[in-house]
Amino acid sequence: MAPRSIARVSGSSSSGRMRPDTVRRFDLSSAQLASSEMARDINRDIVLEFIRFRQPVSRVDLSRLSGLQPSTISAIVEDLIEEGWVREGAVVRSGRGRPSTMLLVNDDLVTLALDIRPSQAIVAVVDLSGRFLSHETITTAKDPETATAKLVKEMNALRKRHGDKTFEGIGVSVPGRVDPVTQRLLMAPNLGWEGYDLRSALEKAMGLQVEIDNDANACLLSELWFGRLEGVRNAVLVAVAEGLGTAILAEGQLHSGFNGLAGEFGHIPIDPKGPVCGCGKRGCWEMFASSRAALQTYRKQSRKQVSDIRGLLQLAQDGDRAALKAVKAQAEALGHGLRLVTAALSPERILITGELTSCWEICGPIVQRELEAGMLAGAAPRLTTAGDGYLARLSGSAALLLQRHSHYHRSTHISRRAKAKA
Ligand SMILES: [Zn+2]
Repeated sequence: MAPRSIARVSGSSSSGRMRPDTVRRFDLSSAQLASSEMARDINRDIVLEFIRFRQPVSRVDLSRLSGLQPSTISAIVEDLIEEGWVREGAVVRSGRGRPSTMLLVNDDLVTLALDIRPSQAIVAVVDLSGRFLSHETITTAKDPETATAKLVKEMNALRKRHGDKTFEGIGVSVPGRVDPVTQRLLMAPNLGWEGYDLRSALEKAMGLQVEIDNDANACLLSELWFGRLEGVRNAVLVAVAEGLGTAILAEGQLHSGFNGLAGEFGHIPIDPKGPVCGCGKRGCWEMFASSRAALQTYRKQSRKQVSDIRGLLQLAQDGDRAALKAVKAQAEALGHGLRLVTAALSPERILITGELTSCWEICGPIVQRELEAGMLAGAAPRLTTAGDGYLARLSGSAALLLQRHSHYHRSTHISRRAKAKA
């Protein structure tokens, strides 16, 4: 009997004979035949995921969890140990069975994670389980070259401090959009580094692989790798701040679209007579559902001074009528716009991040109500809040690197690492 493999193109009977039950359409200009090597790579990623989520875990458990043959599990685990992803732990005797060696992810393998904000940047060392070993905050210099030089200096110091670890690469989260191919910054209005080739600069200075992405994507990845999204393949994260940022998980992958700008829902006009947005168009969703919108509504209705959104949310929680009205209008607009998101992507889960979530007992039910009212059919996506502090962005930056390494990229990456070590 052929070893049972999860990564098959179509279903097969237990005898191992292929029994295609669906036909897929492939783009022949970029099609690759699924080699047995590719199937092995996918199975290896699946086993590594089981080890990450269920550690410490035995080979027997992995076989049961994954449905892969014990012999297949043994071979994959051997590879993962040899490549440095996994290590063996304690030997455990349970009941009458044979003692089994528990497996854990290798905590000696770490990534450098960078969260770059307009005013400050944080550099951290994160391990495969998402634990922070160190982090340092530095101020972000205005021009990208000076800023990069400071970051490099800090990263080198951290690398030295953790000299016993193997550094996998650098994951970077930025407040802007990144070209999915060149990874140059396409749009970073608050940072102003458009066109700067941050990846090449960091790769050259550090000699490590670099992956850069938008901060909302980093938050979504953090939930996916280290949070509560296990098993979810279609989700949308909406970051409510000065504007509205969105990250899309489609069929288990971050979706950036043709030019890296997929998910700019914040700039879809919902009222052609609405106020002019920073993008130059009128009545964009973010003109009604962002923190800026809530502040503007409040300032029109109250003479009380409020410096920022945190102050406004505090007033709302204290029962200030004008503040409550402004925050509720924001929540309503947010829920209303989520109809666009749901109609476009039909996610299973919608995650909301941002200051607004500190007032979720007031806003949550309103957003939920608006979302449900807009469903064309079926149940509304589950609505939850998610962390978006610098820790979420940093662990997401680390995951960015792990994500890009998985599947088909891994073999090339490993050969690269082997070469680097040689
Ligand atoms: Zn706009």
